[in-house]
Amino acid sequence: MSYARVGVVTGANKGIGYAIVRQLALQYPNSKLNNGPLLIYLAARDPSRGETAVSTLTTQDVPLQQANALRSLGGLTDIKFHQLDISQPPSIQSFAELLRAEHPDGIDFVINNAGMAMDGFDLNVVKTTLGCNYHGTLAATRAFLPLLKAEGGRIVNVASMSGYLNKYSAAIRDRFLNAKSVDNITKLMDEFTSAVERGREKEEGWPSAAYATSKAGEIGMTLQIAAEVKWEGKNGVLVNACCPGWVVTDMTKGMGHKTPDQGAQTPVMLAIGDIGEKSGGFWQNEKEISWTG
Ligand code: NDP
Repeated sequence: MSYARVGVVTGANKGIGYAIVRQLALQYPNSKLNNGPLLIYLAARDPSRGETAVSTLTTQDVPLQQANALRSLGGLTDIKFHQLDISQPPSIQSFAELLRAEHPDGIDFVINNAGMAMDGFDLNVVKTTLGCNYHGTLAATRAFLPLLKAEGGRIVNVASMSGYLNKYSAAIRDRFLNAKSVDNITKLMDEFTSAVERGREKEEGWPSAAYATSKAGEIGMTLQIAAEVKWEGKNGVLVNACCPGWVVTDMTKGMGHKTPDQGAQTPVMLAIGDIGEKSGGFWQNEKEISWTG
């Protein structure tokens, strides 16, 4: 089978990532971008959880089965599992190598949805949370970006409105806003970690919050990568960050205003919707919003 389009969704065995895969499969047939069969890689760090998710989506999901039955060949979507742990560089590299080998014409989109939140606040929580949400998402973005098609390739990083810049000293907020490079955002993440290690994060203008700071870093990094891509003249590649809203998942321990399918709408729109040439934005509820909060 040859595919007109290929996409990747990370952390997709449950929660918002799973709903993103489902919504992609439901919405792609009616998308303006539909120019033939779509292959979605449902990526998950645990093979058994990932395989189970693919099997549920492809054999038990009633709306998907109905859509598949009605669908013309042009809109057909296949879903395949691939292992990916974004905290493990070799896992990212081996997936990137497979994508390069299997899809020499390039892939169309990557939705970096994988993320985690831990209870409590100490140096271990900060290092683990930043390691996954910031450094892991950055490593995945860097590895997958060169695989994107030059015309129409898209990166969507699922951050959070907890990454709003209203929790920082004015000096730190300005450094986020005027970072001018990914390295300068990484430097901010390192300074936060060092401040926590010395027990001085509050005095130095940071919140005592690992998840929020990791997501501020994720938004800042995404906007800097969008700027780099433009600067390199790759205007056909769109890079955006978004917040899915407050969504009922394991991460929120069942709290929230939105279902996972509702939370999936903005990431899905940024991957296969009509967003013109918009790149370097932070989005929520299918609209661009301000990062400052
Ligand atoms: P869940 O905890 O339900 O799902 C998180 C997913 O990420 C799981 O598939 C998990 O895999 C995976 N994951 C965690 N760590 C890694 C890793 N190192 N490598 C690969 N996959 C990993 O959370 P949500 O669905 O709620 O969250 C999805 C995204 O949305 C996250 O980035 C989150 O920060 C963001 N978000 C969520 C909000 C909400 O209200 N729910 C609000 C704002 C943002 P496993 O099952 O193996 O643990």
